[in-house]
Amino acid sequence: MEALVLEKKMDLSLRDFPIERDEVMGPHDVRIKLHTVGICGSDVHYYTHGKIGPFEVKAPMILGHEASGTVVDCGAAVTTLKVGDRVCMEPGIPDPNSRATRLGMYNIDPAVRFWATPPVHGILRPSCVHPEAFTFKLPDNVSFAEGAMVEPLAVGVHAATKARIRPGDIALVMGAGPIGLVTALSALAAGCARVFVTDIDDAKLEIAAGLGPITPINVLKENMVERIRQATDGWGVEVVFEATGSPQAAATVFEPLCPGGCVVMIGGQPNPISYDAGAAMVREARVENIFRYAHVFPRCVAMLSSGAIDVKPLLTRKFDFKDSVRAFEIAASAPKGDVKMQIELPQ
Ligand SMILES: [Zn+2]
Repeated sequence: MEALVLEKKMDLSLRDFPIERDEVMGPHDVRIKLHTVGICGSDVHYYTHGKIGPFEVKAPMILGHEASGTVVDCGAAVTTLKVGDRVCMEPGIPDPNSRATRLGMYNIDPAVRFWATPPVHGILRPSCVHPEAFTFKLPDNVSFAEGAMVEPLAVGVHAATKARIRPGDIALVMGAGPIGLVTALSALAAGCARVFVTDIDDAKLEIAAGLGPITPINVLKENMVERIRQATDGWGVEVVFEATGSPQAAATVFEPLCPGGCVVMIGGQPNPISYDAGAAMVREARVENIFRYAHVFPRCVAMLSSGAIDVKPLLTRKFDFKDSVRAFEIAASAPKGDVKMQIELPQ
């Protein structure tokens, strides 16, 4: 089948890739005809750098892991899905017998196999085989484009869950990229009264400001800590989400935090970073780390369907599958004002 293949760093091609030869459909699997696939920062990073941390592209690999599609075949033991169902898929498949999985932490199972993380292929291709347990039906009022946003949204919902947000909390999200914005939406859905969002791109901040009771702060023009102290009578915010992955931003996470507050580290850091342990101590700050997500896909689908969360303003550009290589070239140039680009496969 034709797939978008990362041959090696900075070398993409749309070409025949006979992955179906290695795909065995078990009794608990479904075959899915793919419809929409989002371009993730990690896909772009593999394209531009050839690796993320310990994961290195050593052989041609199909990109893509944010997907929706239609069930076209069901294994004999599948009970919750049928042919024709519109679905979205959780891209990480853990070992069901691992200790981490049995403890409910399947996302941090060291044996997890995650789409488009070497050596596991992604899904920028016409179809894939996936376990029923990690495939979720989309209600009629959730589009394929929104369905393909469930994967990034899941990161925000997992972060908000770890923060243990209470109604009326005030939060700060550092970074207005796709993950920062879905985190802001998740924080509001979890009950935050207001969310501050920082970035250096005014176009992204403008999108943020349109998503709800969100106050944008451009950190190149304004002092973020002072602005938050003023807005909170000197108290600070209950939750800080670090979604930039920048060591400089991460170094400041405790300054805007209130006593007893919580910091959630979301952005990936390729190298060790330093943070102000003294500032954390005097606040008795709780620090949470997240790695992807677990147990949140059904919640994300339910919130998209009910209207509790609307991701449509984040969908800024759509490409045809035949233009996938160009889509990645554009995504790699990080155009201002673009949040989420998606690729649509021929149906
Ligand atoms: Zn992603």
